[in-house]
Amino acid sequence: MNSQKADLVGLKKTEISNLITPICGSNSSINMRVSQLWDWIYTKGETDFTKMTNMSKEFRDTLHEKFYISRPEIQTKLISQDGTRKYLLKLRDNNLVETVFIPDKDRGTLCISSQVGCTLNCSFCFTGTQGLVRNLSASEIVQQLMVARDDLLEWDQLKHSKVKKRLISNIVLMGMGEPLYNFEEVKSGLKIIMDETGISISRKRITLSTSGVVPKIASVGEEIGCLLAISFHATTDEVRNRLVPLNKKWNIKSLLDSLRNYPSLSNSERITFEYVMIDNVNDSKEDAKRLVKLISGIPSKINLIPFNPWPGSEFKTSTSERIRDFSKIINAAGYSSPIRTPRGQDIMAACGQLKSVSKKIKKSQLHA
Ligand code: SAH
Ligand code: SF4
Repeated sequence: MNSQKADLVGLKKTEISNLITPICGSNSSINMRVSQLWDWIYTKGETDFTKMTNMSKEFRDTLHEKFYISRPEIQTKLISQDGTRKYLLKLRDNNLVETVFIPDKDRGTLCISSQVGCTLNCSFCFTGTQGLVRNLSASEIVQQLMVARDDLLEWDQLKHSKVKKRLISNIVLMGMGEPLYNFEEVKSGLKIIMDETGISISRKRITLSTSGVVPKIASVGEEIGCLLAISFHATTDEVRNRLVPLNKKWNIKSLLDSLRNYPSLSNSERITFEYVMIDNVNDSKEDAKRLVKLISGIPSKINLIPFNPWPGSEFKTSTSERIRDFSKIINAAGYSSPIRTPRGQDIMAACGQLKSVSKKIKKSQLHA
């Protein structure tokens, strides 16, 4: 690939316009060209300029000379018995990120990553143990969705089907990385995903999960407008410091204060509190009672997530009895608290795990 070429994925319409202005014959056609390109890239999923047949051959040839429409390579794809698909994607600099598709009866959720690795070292999270960290670009964020649509053959289905039922209907930023430490690229990527003339996934079907980067929380509502999930996981600062070390910087009180002031907080746009259930660490009845008190007054729902063990981790999953007791207290206080059924366990769909397997394979190959 010619390194002088520029990627068109991840750019705003105005940026595409600036790039193609010098190669458009007359000024008047620029907006139309941008719309056509946007449609090919984001509603048809086309990656080959020569197939964009509603533009002149000369213009297509020039586009091909100067630009490309990038896709990551699927290095590994695992399909679970329950239909969950986990992709390990190779980026242009050979870094690897994970994307997971989770089909359900009423929806299909794509879990995307915002960084390679994560700087935050939560003690129960495998991603935090991985050395290398870099931010993903807006292009790499959008490409995760585009490559999943390629793999699910969804572009064609959306084109032909009258019902337009989407395979990927919802997005969660719950893969690798802390999205609020990569705010601008995440915002640009999500704006493209929400754009109604392209991929067009509504802001209400997108949930951004943060471990609690307090100064950036209001901006999620103000500048992106998607739903918010908080990785809460503990009801005292002592335990939260241990599980989510970022709590030492912004403690439970400052986190909850930022949520009480969150723009557009309402019953229809409640905040999700994620709570990983770890045996004898954060799963007592007292924890459940404290949790209910702490979040009172914040329109919210609570997602109980059984801890997903990984090799070498110091924690165990809570017993089903402890999870049941915990959820009873929360339900009695009027909160819905779905216990997230582990999905894709046979393919290790929990965050960060596929990458570790791939590393092991590489190491063993070296010794072979
Ligand atoms: N960094 C962001 C988003 C990515 S993590 C955040 O922390 O919110 C996405 C979710 O997966 C978080 O709620 C995180 O706490 C959870 N998670 C991480 N490791 C887990 C594990 N081993 N078992 C269960 N959930 C885990
Ligand atoms: Fe990073 Fe989130 Fe994992 Fe914590 S839970 S290490 S913030 S990816």
